[in-house]
Amino acid sequence: MSFCSMFYVPCSMNKECIFCKIIKKEIPSEIVFEDEDVFAFRDIQPHAPVHILIIPKRHIASINELEDSDMMLVGKLIITAKRLAKDFDISEKGYRLLFRTGEWGGQEVPHIHLHLMGGAEMFEDIHAID
Ligand code: AMP
Ligand code: ZN
Repeated sequence: MSFCSMFYVPCSMNKECIFCKIIKKEIPSEIVFEDEDVFAFRDIQPHAPVHILIIPKRHIASINELEDSDMMLVGKLIITAKRLAKDFDISEKGYRLLFRTGEWGGQEVPHIHLHLMGGAEMFEDIHAID
């Protein structure tokens, strides 16, 4: 049995996954929140003054791998984002939440992560066709 964190919660991890290593603290990160299900840390290459990644502690490669039974977990990722937005004082002006999925979605790390970005006005750069 392996354990995810200081909370000693058994969970499924992927040994090769960089975000699983961050959860296990084998790779350092700037942690902003942690509980038995969810882990949140600052993005190493921020696109906004506040750029936080919120991830499930269980290794789930992408939104495509979610099961119906993960509904509460996904809700918890979003509620965590809402709480962190308040904590980091970006709620009032607004912020952006983003899940990338798969190759064409631009997902680089195959462990579900919700980007929370704010602290400045965000500009659109979402396009597939010029
Ligand atoms: P995505 O392109 O949606 O898969 O986003 C992956 C994000 O993970 C990028 O914004 C990276 O900057 C971020 N990232 C990759 N490695 C680390 C790391 N070691 N610590 C913090 N953020 C990371
Ligand atoms: Zn992982």
